[in-house]
Amino acid sequence: MIFDEFSIKKLVRPVPDFPKPGVVFRDITPLFQSPRAMRMVADSLIQRYVETEFSHIGALDARGFIIGSILAYELNKPLVLFRKQGKLPAQVLSQGYSTEYGEAFLEVHADSLCEGDSVLLVDDLIATGGTLLAAAQLVRRMNARVHEVAAVIDLPELGGSRKLQEAGIAAYTLTA
Ligand code: AMP
Repeated sequence: MIFDEFSIKKLVRPVPDFPKPGVVFRDITPLFQSPRAMRMVADSLIQRYVETEFSHIGALDARGFIIGSILAYELNKPLVLFRKQGKLPAQVLSQGYSTEYGEAFLEVHADSLCEGDSVLLVDDLIATGGTLLAAAQLVRRMNARVHEVAAVIDLPELGGSRKLQEAGIAAYTLTA
């Protein structure tokens, strides 16, 4: 199936003033409801990563879980969950960050990665880059490294992908 950026973009619904005034939320639930578009997204990412060397998929709470778990299954990689505060039951590492909507903490199980592991971080969207940078810091705190970050959508006007690049982290997105 040929990747068609236009048909992906048509399935991302802008919702003004959600979750707070001034933010335009890019709702990708219509994309999740299109098996054809989801297959296009999954196949494009699988094609990019099937022959690259990395050890783990790191999926970001919550929409990153959906895309990350498809990739983990298809690429036969262990899946590590990066979750919002208070959701993981065992010992966690916690990292503060800020986003378009405010301050938050991202957590990961402290024993989920080891020295030498290399992680493909997956989320639905890069806005300010705060969430993925926090995940990258957590990866580094476990002496592992980030292979690359992958997302369906980049919002370049919010500067996240540039910030990731400045931090030495390659970002790959399907649409901008
Ligand atoms: P950021 O950390 O600012 O790059 O934000 C990325 C994370 O927050 C992703 O998990 C997105 O799902 C979510 N997010 C941030 N801004 C938006 C937005 N405008 N529309 C949809 N999701 C967003």
